[in-house]
Amino acid sequence: MKKRDYNDLAVPGVRELTPYTPGKPIDELEREYGVTDSIKLASNENPLGSSPKAIEAVRGELDDLWLYPDANGFHLKQALSARHGVDPDCITLGNGSNDVLVFLAQAFLQPGLESVFSQYAFAVYPIATQMVGARASIAPALPADHPMPLGHDLRALFERVGSDTRLVFVANPNNPTGTWLEAQRLKDFIGSLPPHVICVVDEAYTEYAESDTLGDASAWLDEFPNLVVTRTFSKAYGLAGLRVGYALSNPGIADLLNRLRPPFNVNSLALAAARAALDDHEFIERTRKINSEGLGQLGEGLTGLGAKVIPSAANFVLTGFDRPGGELNEALLQRGVIVRPVGNYGLDNYLRITVGTPEQNERVLAALADIL
Ligand SMILES: *Cc1c(COP(=O)(O)O)cnc(C)c1O
Repeated sequence: MKKRDYNDLAVPGVRELTPYTPGKPIDELEREYGVTDSIKLASNENPLGSSPKAIEAVRGELDDLWLYPDANGFHLKQALSARHGVDPDCITLGNGSNDVLVFLAQAFLQPGLESVFSQYAFAVYPIATQMVGARASIAPALPADHPMPLGHDLRALFERVGSDTRLVFVANPNNPTGTWLEAQRLKDFIGSLPPHVICVVDEAYTEYAESDTLGDASAWLDEFPNLVVTRTFSKAYGLAGLRVGYALSNPGIADLLNRLRPPFNVNSLALAAARAALDDHEFIERTRKINSEGLGQLGEGLTGLGAKVIPSAANFVLTGFDRPGGELNEALLQRGVIVRPVGNYGLDNYLRITVGTPEQNERVLAALADIL
């Protein structure tokens, strides 16, 4: 039989998709490079592991795995409703917040319409936009010599908004840069958007923010009907493997997103773990502490090595060198250290390094010193 090129059959948005690049798993590195004892500081995972309360909750669910999960996530939604002071019908649960970002694209974009986001923004925004055949309109980031280097330029974002724009994606703090927006400026920006444009504020790293500077966009939902806030349990709560995140919005938007939600998209272990993790304030405090010390340790160490260090309010640091990040990454892999090269973001001479334990941070610094 003649072999067919199925790419021709695919819808245009899918035909041009480039898949998301994940951090290399430890297993794979050790198999490929024949190294042992390697560390992974590539996917912004929590070096403390998972909230112990979440692990206990998962154990409590094991006897009921034969049952479908609660399709509406009643208990988790109750807990989130109390946490954010919003009605449960303002919440959309996702298989990771990635899921809700895709629902947003499916609900509001199609060929002829566009999303707007910044030059160095989360890789899922272009993917979600393209998969539904819409256009991405990319605003130039702030210059490298700006006090918030490579961060979101709100004026440039605003200038990109037009009659075909339906979504604006803003991550605060941003990935892969770690940069942030001050609450009042972000609020003014949302307020300046025309009513046909929905602003998605992605707060995946908000638990790491040290000060009140960034604010909590979920508190602005009453004021802005066109605001959607996304959160995740993958980062500070240490539950990346379970896949659970959510969107907060007005009930009208949440209704649309929930219609798109595949039945049972959040599994029973994830529902139980997320609900327990939400109350584990002690774990979040420890996470914050080890992170802020680690940011200091990495910042100092990298500066000492002559690298450029982008200010970060998240659990990773973007750092620039005088040579290609791909090359440095290769040399780090040979030394059993996995970080994230960010050439796919157009940041050729940079690496993104997740904050680890003090020992892991020391290890990546020592490996870089050796290479440089
Ligand atoms: C990690 C991350 C997410 C969350 O992904 P999940 O699907 O919830 O694991 C969302 N936005 C940004 C900017 C991220 O870096």
